[in-house]
Amino acid sequence: MLVDISMLGLVKAHCDRIPRYDYNPDGDKLPPCHLLSPPPQSPPHPSPPPLPSPPLLPSPPPHPSPPPHPSPPPVPQACPPIPNQGGEQGDYGLVYERRARPDININHLTQSVVLPKMQEAMVFVNALHHASLDDAVSKLDNDTLHRLCNPPQECLSIDSPGTKYSIKTYLTLEHSSQVAYQSVCNVAKRNFAGAPGVEDILSSYSVEKLIANYTSIQTVEHDMCPDTCLAYTGPFAALEECPLCGISRWNQEKLHASHGCIKVATRKFTTILLGPQIQGLYRDPQSAQEMQYLYEQTQQILEQVRQTGEIPGVDDVTMGWDYLGAVLDGDIKPDDVVLMVSMDSAQLYNSKALDCWMYIWIALNFPPDKCYRKAHILPGSFIPGPNKPKNVDSFLFVGMHHLAALQREGLRIWNASHNVNLRSDLYLLFTTADGPGLVYWDGMVGHRGKNGC
Ligand SMILES: [Zn+2]
Repeated sequence: MLVDISMLGLVKAHCDRIPRYDYNPDGDKLPPCHLLSPPPQSPPHPSPPPLPSPPLLPSPPPHPSPPPHPSPPPVPQACPPIPNQGGEQGDYGLVYERRARPDININHLTQSVVLPKMQEAMVFVNALHHASLDDAVSKLDNDTLHRLCNPPQECLSIDSPGTKYSIKTYLTLEHSSQVAYQSVCNVAKRNFAGAPGVEDILSSYSVEKLIANYTSIQTVEHDMCPDTCLAYTGPFAALEECPLCGISRWNQEKLHASHGCIKVATRKFTTILLGPQIQGLYRDPQSAQEMQYLYEQTQQILEQVRQTGEIPGVDDVTMGWDYLGAVLDGDIKPDDVVLMVSMDSAQLYNSKALDCWMYIWIALNFPPDKCYRKAHILPGSFIPGPNKPKNVDSFLFVGMHHLAALQREGLRIWNASHNVNLRSDLYLLFTTADGPGLVYWDGMVGHRGKNGC
């Protein structure tokens, strides 16, 4: 059986913290919600009781009791405005039917696993469960940690024409070499000598640093096998050689030259931190304003559901019950950032087999026509080739650990469009990939398997 169950473990770890909504095993329709009224006093995550009939809602159609499967129209109910942070379920006046959230006892699960791969997975799961921004996996230096907890509270403006020119040129030449960038800048300096700002044209290194600062890009590096088998994280963190290919983790030249005293990893991979990037999006008034879309759209949809008992038509994630259910449960609050992660591989050269894997974060707070734009895509990590990673979990773990730590501790944000400080919780709504890549998220056998697992 070719199941990579370790990722399943990661997903389960998130189940523990990030409530997810079960699909309906009998079909692809989600348990269309029954919208009752008025919200029952409280029940925190209910396994909803068989909904007794009464649609106490004024207007539209009297609703018979719980519709069986292919099921239709729910009944609306009073839907007070979305509450502020900390709102409780029921504040919306809508109750919907869904299966109970799985109750997973991680300690019990850890003790009960016996297969080696599952034991490895549980090491990852437990590390996610206790993730913290200042632990050894996070690898955040003091400056980065301080900035995460105290985001800058002023907009970044660039006035110098030379600096603007540098950034524009750099972005225009994104597929060209550094030499090309430097040549273009040198020509500009020569031809426009004496022009205002020409002395501020930046070198390739400086413009990269400036853009990284502007977009709040912070990276961390972790050791990996030179053959891309795995990353030295989680259960592999203390190993000195790859358990899959036997190659040493350390640079042999430096190791021998220092008589075994200096251990430097032969290879590292890069993870780009999610928290600072989200803080960067809110630091720009325009993107902060655009990220209001999710909240405003949700308000409209809930209002429509309240009035008509049904969702107008599904053309956005905000109209799915994976999302709306979490909002109604109070798991997603107005200031929260809702995320999707997507992973894929890329062959970097036509003439050479060189796989590179990467994943990106997508903030679903933006409107659908903006959240997939390059300017709003948040890079997650790059897993260099030449080979396909054999244990993808060990690479994904770093980014997931950072996310889990932010979920535990909250992300502080300065919203430039309203000039307010707030705490945002991050909600991972979807993990996506193409057909072959999905196995790394869900632990199934993939498109070639006869059975799912
Ligand atoms: Zn290896």
